[in-house]
Amino acid sequence: MKKVELVTGILDANDVLAKQNRELFRNKKIFLVNLMSSPGSGKTAILERTIASLQEELAFGVVEGDIYTTKDAERIQAQGVPVVQINTEGACHLDASMVAKAFENLPMDNLDVIIIENVGNLVCPAEFDLGQDCKAMVLSTTEGNDKPWKYPLMFREAKVVILNKIDLLPYTDFDVTQLENDITEISPNAKFFALSAKTNEGMAEWCAWLKAAVKEKKQQ
Ligand code: MG
Ligand code: ZN
Repeated sequence: MKKVELVTGILDANDVLAKQNRELFRNKKIFLVNLMSSPGSGKTAILERTIASLQEELAFGVVEGDIYTTKDAERIQAQGVPVVQINTEGACHLDASMVAKAFENLPMDNLDVIIIENVGNLVCPAEFDLGQDCKAMVLSTTEGNDKPWKYPLMFREAKVVILNKIDLLPYTDFDVTQLENDITEISPNAKFFALSAKTNEGMAEWCAWLKAAVKEKKQQ
């Protein structure tokens, strides 16, 4: 019996395009973030807060991945930031070719940072390199402590782990120290931020990190 190595083939083709994206972003000196999480953890809310606090210092572009709707893109557009919507029509992740097409529709010569909001899913988005400088993942306190070990690839790939909804900590049994220990074990070099996009608590630390990372890329 012959077995077709479909997944390996798809990922190889994706890596070629991701490399092209990375080259483009090196030339343009734009910092590229691939923001991932499960649905409802607050990616768009974090994005809105981040843009609002850094918009005067950094020129943002956003790529919104969504299976069917333009709801998140509309929220970002309301902030006056160039945004491109990708509707995957059922696909549960973004790949390098999808985002390459989106970049063609952004003012690439005038941007400092582009944030890609990936499709809400803790599984396959982690497997697809988009050419990003940084994979950032969001976990919210309401999702529970079991996620790092249930979705280790996502956590291992993440350069930044953001715990969102810390304003809800008193109403959950989420254990922040346990999460920090799990991250240390799975992804020892990952940066960890705990924040609430709702109350703004902790947002400053994440924004300061992002600003420094964008600046560092500019100087390369
Ligand atoms: Mg969203
Ligand atoms: Zn998928």
